[in-house]
Amino acid sequence: MITCLDPRVDPTHFLALGLGDAMVVRNVGGRVTPEVINDVAFIGQLAENVLPDGPLFDVAVIHHTQCGTGAFADDTFRRRYAQRSGAKESTLRERAVLDPAVTVTHDVERLRSAPAIAPRVTFSGHVYDVVTGLVKTVIPARSSQAPTVKP
Ligand SMILES: [Zn+2]
Repeated sequence: MITCLDPRVDPTHFLALGLGDAMVVRNVGGRVTPEVINDVAFIGQLAENVLPDGPLFDVAVIHHTQCGTGAFADDTFRRRYAQRSGAKESTLRERAVLDPAVTVTHDVERLRSAPAIAPRVTFSGHVYDVVTGLVKTVIPARSSQAPTVKP
């Protein structure tokens, strides 16, 4: 599971996860960065060694409403943070979660197109509403190998 480090978005709480239920990667926005892709590739390779056939696991990307990464859309904030952190301003602008359904779709596609990740891993995208406490599935689980269903 990949989600935001916002304290309102703790999956042990909103998904009632217990110890050992899921691996959780949390960062600013729950964004799929190169580091996150490498983490998923590592876990996928470990799982391949244990499970020779069939699906390995699902990577659920969960973005949320009212995400603080919206600050990256503000020119003054983004410029100042880029100066402080040394990050590229253009990269920071892309990290803003303004519409979580849009950004979660983008990030699931990033995972699906990552050649480093084992093809038997599936990916799904969800939006957590911090006001209602509900999680909506935007993209159901599907591997990068599975054919796209066309109407
Ligand atoms: Zn957030």
